[in-house]
Parts: sequence; structure tokens; C-alpha cells
Amino acid sequence: MESGVRKNRDVSLYLGEESKSTRLERIVGELMSELGLDLNDQHFKGTPARVARLFRGLTHGYQADPAEILKTFESLHTELIVVSDINFYSLCPHHLLIYRGKMHFGYVPNGRIVGLSKIPRLIQAMASRAIVQENLVSEIADTFVNTVHPLGCVIRATGRHDCVAVRGVKCHEAQMSTVAVRGVFREKASLVEEFNQLVGRP
Ligand SMILES: [Zn+2]
Repeated sequence: MESGVRKNRDVSLYLGEESKSTRLERIVGELMSELGLDLNDQHFKGTPARVARLFRGLTHGYQADPAEILKTFESLHTELIVVSDINFYSLCPHHLLIYRGKMHFGYVPNGRIVGLSKIPRLIQAMASRAIVQENLVSEIADTFVNTVHPLGCVIRATGRHDCVAVRGVKCHEAQMSTVAVRGVFREKASLVEEFNQLVGRP
């Protein structure tokens, strides 16, 4: 009996692998049918595959490796470094709808700096998940601190959420700002002020 269970499990694993690329497509098709959409309509024919690809892309950040993204170089620089106006989009975990906006990132190095493009890459990779904006900035800050070990870092994000725009209060213009502050930025208000001046108001 035990081997039979194992065999069934193996078969289901095998089938799971085999149908992985089409399973999501089938589920999207079922969702559309449940909503009363005619899958034979010319405009809906390729939609399950397109939506499946879309959601795979919107959640590809679960496979990202921050340590690989954040390659560092030695540096004697110990002043504030800012990368501003980084576009991002992410998925609200409560409704699976998109929110998008801009992030500003600052850090004070502690012997090592990262390449300019690595900060947007980290942000965009970590945003490609279903995560609330509050936790997104906190997790980016903690990941950066744990990987690069700077003296401190600060992030400010402003996002517009489709779930606020198209449902409930239907507030199209509302924006949410979230901030994460680590290390020396917690201790030195002048550093945060310098950061705010460099990135401007949200
Ligand atoms: Zn939402």
C-alpha cells in the first residue's frame, strides 16, 4: 500500500511538471468561463495564455537572489549615495491588482558600494511579488542591509493602487507613501533631511 501511495505521488508529481505551463492557463480559462465569458470569442481565444504569462511575470521575483543582484565593490566613500525616481510596480496581495509608483533609495556605505543599476534591479525584483507596500519597502531595506552591510539605508516609496481606484472607495488619485529607515538614518535627522532634499517631495 505504501508503495502504491508513493507511486501515485510520483505520477502526480510527473503530471504536475508536465502540465505546469498549461495548468495556470487552464485555471484562467475556467475563471473566465465562470464569469460567463465566451472563450470562443475571437478576443478571448488567446487570453488565458496571455493572462497566465502576465501573472508569471508579475510574480517572478520569488525566484530572485538578492545576493547575486547586489554585487559590491570596495570604496572609501562614506557619504550619502542616492538613487531616485525608480519606477516600480507590484501586486496587492489582497486583490491581486497592480499598484505602481516611484521609489527613492539612499544609503551610506561602509567600505563597499553597489553598481547604480543594481538598486533598481533589486527593487524591481522584490516588487515582482504579491506584497503590501509597507512590507515591500521594509523587506528591500532589510535585504540591502543584510547583503551589503552599509552604515544605513533609507527608502521612500509612493504608490497608486488599482484596488483603491477601481473598487471600494474608487479613489483614483489617492497615493500611499511608505518609508523604511535603517542604521545611521535613524540616528541622524540631518541625513534624512539631506536625502529628502536630494529626491524632492513625493
Ligand atoms: Zn488591494
